[in-house]
Order: sequence, then C-alpha cells, then structure tokens
Amino acid sequence: MADAETFAFQAEINQLLSLIINTFYSNKEIFLRELISNSSDALDKIRFESLTDKSKLDGQPELFIRLVPDKANNTLSIIDSGIGMTKADLVNNLGTIARSGTKEFMEALQAGADVSMIGQFGVGFYSAYLVAEKVIVTTKHNDDEQYIWESQAGGSFTVTRDTDGEQLGRGTKITLFLKEDQLEYLEERRIKDLVKKHSEFISYPIYLWTEKTTEKEISDDEDDEPKKEEEGVVEEVDEDKEKDAKKKKKIKEVSHEWELINKQKPIWLRKPEEITKDEYAAFYKSLTNDWEEHLAVKHFSVEGQLEFKAILFVPKRAPFDLFDTRKKMNNIKLYVRRVFIMDNCEELIPEYLGFVKGVVDSDDLPLNISREMLQQNKILKVIRKNLVKKCIEMFNEIAENKEDYNKFYDAFSKNLKLGVHEDSQNRAKLADLLRYHSTKSGDEMTSLKDYVTRMKEGQKDIYYITGESKKAVENSPFLERLKKKGYEVLFMVDAIDEYAVGQLKEYDGKKLVSATKEGLKLDDETEEEKKKKEEKKKSFEDLCRVMKEILGDKVEKVVVSDRIVDSPCCLVTGEYGWSANMERIMKAQALRDSSMAGYMSSKKTMEINPDNGIMEELRKRSEADKNDKSVKDLVLLLFETALLTSGFSLDEPNTFAGRIHRMLKLGLSIDEDETGADDVDMPPLEEDGAEESKMEEVD
Ligand code: ADP
Repeated sequence: MADAETFAFQAEINQLLSLIINTFYSNKEIFLRELISNSSDALDKIRFESLTDKSKLDGQPELFIRLVPDKANNTLSIIDSGIGMTKADLVNNLGTIARSGTKEFMEALQAGADVSMIGQFGVGFYSAYLVAEKVIVTTKHNDDEQYIWESQAGGSFTVTRDTDGEQLGRGTKITLFLKEDQLEYLEERRIKDLVKKHSEFISYPIYLWTEKTTEKEISDDEDDEPKKEEEGVVEEVDEDKEKDAKKKKKIKEVSHEWELINKQKPIWLRKPEEITKDEYAAFYKSLTNDWEEHLAVKHFSVEGQLEFKAILFVPKRAPFDLFDTRKKMNNIKLYVRRVFIMDNCEELIPEYLGFVKGVVDSDDLPLNISREMLQQNKILKVIRKNLVKKCIEMFNEIAENKEDYNKFYDAFSKNLKLGVHEDSQNRAKLADLLRYHSTKSGDEMTSLKDYVTRMKEGQKDIYYITGESKKAVENSPFLERLKKKGYEVLFMVDAIDEYAVGQLKEYDGKKLVSATKEGLKLDDETEEEKKKKEEKKKSFEDLCRVMKEILGDKVEKVVVSDRIVDSPCCLVTGEYGWSANMERIMKAQALRDSSMAGYMSSKKTMEINPDNGIMEELRKRSEADKNDKSVKDLVLLLFETALLTSGFSLDEPNTFAGRIHRMLKLGLSIDEDETGADDVDMPPLEEDGAEESKMEEVD
C-alpha cells in the first residue's frame, strides 16, 4: 500500500466533529439515513452522466446500495456504485472545505436543535461519528484511482492510494467501526426498520447482507458426506435415544444473501387516493431531509398533449437560508420516465416559489436532456406554468385552515409578495393570498377580499399605509380623516410590501391608494360642506405661501389638507415617487447605487390642517405681520416634527433637538441668559441665527 498522506480538518469541521462526538444525542440512528442519502445522490450523478455517455457505467454497470453488517469486526459498511470521489474530492469534500451550513448547524445545535437536522445543513456525512469511533471511506471515481480516507476524528484524517484492497470498480464504501455501545446497528431487524422508517423512498435498490440459518436433519450416514455450505456449523443434538436406535443429527446451515429491503416504486406513480398522509410525510422527509412533516401536499398528473406527474410540498418552516442570494433555491427534482435527471432545475419553477419542494416526472422530455437544452424547452415552459398554478391552488387549500395559513404566511409571505412583484400573469391570484393588519382587523390579519366586503358605501378605493412597523403606522396623522370617515386602512409594514403594492396597483377593480401620498381624495361631502371647505382653503392660501417661502426647497409646495383631522400638518409624497418608507428602505441598502435617489427620493408636499389651533394662530400672526419672527420658528419646528410623524428621518437631529430644548426652557420659564454653558452648542431657532427670538410670545 502507498504511503498515507495526513490532512488537518478545517477548523469549523473539527469543531463540528467534537460536538457530534462529545455531546449526548439520543437520536443517533439518523446517521444511516444520511449516508444512504449521500449514496443515492452519488448514484443520481453517475446515472445522469451515463445518459449521455453509456461507457461511464463500465466500471460497475449495476446501480445499487448495499449494507453489510459484520459482527465479527463490529463494522457496518454502506456501499454504493455511485459516482465515487477522486482524491481531490475526498480531501475537499470530507474535511478541508467547510460548507456554508457548518457554522449554522453548530449554532442551531447549541440553541437546542436536534442532531437529526444535520442533513439540511449539508454536513450529513459527519453524522457517521455519532455511532462510529473510526470511519474508513474507500472510493473509486471514473477519473481517478481507488483511494482510502480514514479518520478517528481528533483533528486529522489520512488519504492513501488503495492498491491492495478489494476493487470497487466504481463507487464508495463507507465502513463504520461502531462504538461499543452502538452495536445494535449490526442487527438485521434494526437496520431493516431504519431503512423502512427513513429511506423507504430511495429510488435505488438497497440490499442488506443477511444471514440465514436453516436447520436440517440428517442421518448418521449422510453425515459423512462433505458439507455443502462452507460456513455451516454442525451441532450435535441428543434425540430420543431409546426410541430411535439409529442416531440422527441436526445440522445448522448458515447462508448469506442480499435481501432487497426497500420498495422502489416511486410514490408519484401511485394513485393519490391510495396514499396515506404518513406515506406522503415519509416521502417528503426522505426528499428534503426535513425533520418535520410537510404543511401541505399536492399530488397530481397532467394528461393530454403533454403528460407529467408531480408531487409538490410546502414545508412548515422557511429554511435558514431562504433569501441567501448567493444560493439559488430550487427544490424540484426532475425525472424523465422514472429516471432522475436533475435537482435545481431553474426552469421548472420561478424563484419566488423556490421554497416549494417536490418531484416532477415527465413522459415527454428526452432522457438525454442537458441543462442548456432545458432553457429553451417548450415542454418545460408548459410544465412550469402548470406547477405555478398548482402551487397557488395548494396555497388556497392551506388558507382554508386558519392556523395552518398563519404558519404558512409567517414563513412565506415574503415569497408571495415577491410573486406579486414579479409574476404579472398570476399577480391577481397571488393578491388573494395576501394578509394585512388594518385599522379594523384587530389582532387578526385581513385579506383584500374581506377588506372589500367591509368597504363603506361610497368608498371607491382601498387605502393602505406603509411604514416600519404596525406600531409606527397605526397612529399616524395620515390616517386621521380616513379613520373618521370609517374607512379601513391596511398596514403594509414589510419592506417588500412597498415593492409589491407598487406593482399590484389595484385589486378587484379597486385602486390601491396610499394614505401618505398625494392623490388621496375623499370627496363624498355635501355641496355645503364643500363650499365651506373651499372658503377655509382660501383663507389659508396666504399662510401656505408664507410657509413655502420659509421652507424653501425643503418642500415642493404647501397645501391645505384633506386627510388630517387632529394633527397640525403632515408631509406627503408624490403619487409615483418614493414614499417616506421607501426612502427609509433605500437608505438602508448600503451597497445600493445612489443614482436613483436624486429623482426618486420623496418630493414632499406639506399639508396643513386648517382646523388645528396652531395653524389658526400661525395664520393670524402671519396676517398681522408678514415678517413675524415667531412664525418662521414655528414653521421650521412644525416641518421637522412632521418629518418624524410622517415616517422620514431627520437630516439634522441636533438642530431639531436644539429647537425642542428651547421650547422646554420656555415651558419651564428658564430665562435665556441664565442657562449658562449648555447654551453654547445650541443652534439658533432660526437658521440665519437671529440674535433674538420671539418664541416667548407663543403659548
Ligand atoms: P451533502 O451530502 O449534504 O453535500 P455531506 O457532508 O453529507 O454533505 O457530504 C459531503 C460531500 O461528500 C458530498 O457533497 C459529496 O460530494 C461527497 N460524498 C459524500 N458521500 C458520498 C458518496 N457516498 N459518494 C460520493 N460522494 C460522496
């Protein structure tokens, strides 16, 4: 045998190994599922390669998984005729390159997660060390010689060229040297049960090397004959000697054979009505490595011009890396006439449905289809359309049960909203699935459909407000008039809502109108009311002009408001520009190109409330004296306060704080001159730094 090369485990993998070895987990049995699943993946890979090049199978034409318990040596081997690993694969995959999930898995474990979740994090191989003190991996890839990987953990592993050992032809043999207290995994019964429980739906035959003992009665003279079975053990039995003069012997014959221990008929070929919920759950778990059952399943076949069968699942939770942009999520496995073709077929399902898991088995695609061909394939496009349709049907079925739907919505509402944003064909249907808190929904959330049924007579539009949180928007000044009129307002407080609603625009023929943007018209007043309002507006025209002069470029214009009832003023944004919330979201995206900000960022219109006492006082003062200093002070303070209540951020919080402190001093009757050192930092109330303020005059 060649010399062994020693490698150190990458630091995180090393940590993971100690965690696996030194922490007590009762659920150790999952190691077998993980290793069988790796074998199945390796078989998928070679089968796929062989579709375009049959000679790839030459080293070992049969595709199988074999389990060999060896009681004499306390080892359990898992052998597959999969793709195998080259020397480089061995070094990289089994020890020197950490998967992105390594750290996440350890964190999850330390937070109390179950070790059975290991497969989801892409480090399933290391679960071998739950039951083994030493692991030897013998492997042969078509492109390389046979190699042996060996490790007892403890920081390092060795890789050796295998020249003397039994040659695999192609594939991988993993031999586990079981810990003393883990010998149960040598028992046939235990292994069979485990395969049934966790690996029943593996689509390759799993054979168990079984031992059969048969008893045979033979007469004395027969006994002289040579034994047929080499391993046979002869045992003398004392029979009833008196009755039978002739001495008889019983012989125990031990024979070995490969016993097929999994059913392989794919579950999707069976009739849905004959499949139990448990069977779906078992299939789902084997497909996804999830430790929980699925939330919903849709099993269907499409017939006619195009034929395919599919099973789709919705998981109970979002995976830890749902929106990891480095990794394209896609969990639909593509089969062609029962033959596995590929994972992650991007063309099968749009990105926003990347959380849906399942299988599709097509009768129409060619077996030797390549990834490049898939991109233009018409059949695939039709399949995709059908899958989206069925997914939406499935979501609607989930919605029939409130509790389930809450779970679903918690986990995947962002995906639905992404769908609304991206999928114009299904936008309307996806909009039905949206749920929002609102001014009338209480603790529950409401659908747009239910909103419409509650619309008041004369209400034409659907109103919403976007913002950072429910708390931040529910008492917003923008809602005052709407609330007073009894109009319901939806709270859209997810960053992605802003994008989704921008595309949705309307629902059920009703316009979606933002409470914080221009264009909010609530015109159902009587003629008399209208007239009164017009008069009021007129009387405030001058003040509006004065205010615009004071605020300058800070605002586009100043107008009399329709939407506020109590607050003195608010800042609205253009109907087609960014809302305050969108501005906040965009500012938060650190790496964003800032070129958009110029023309998209909110053009603010200040709306003032003519019925508010402060405004009335302002009007009087500015009418009495156009250059009244206190008017300028107040207008600036009102503007800054309105920035905050309208969901914007302050560019100069210190200036604002300075103004407030001045107000406090006035309120506390502290004389300007007495205040001493604190005053040094205080900005003047007016930006031009007027030496004297007349704020004192304001009550
Ligand atoms: P995962 O299987 O989720 O990628 P694992 O830790 O279980 O993570 O395995 C790491 C890698 O080792 C696999 O991605 C695969 O490349 C390789 N591997 C493991 N088992 C086998 C096997 N039986 N045959 C071929 N390659 C394997």
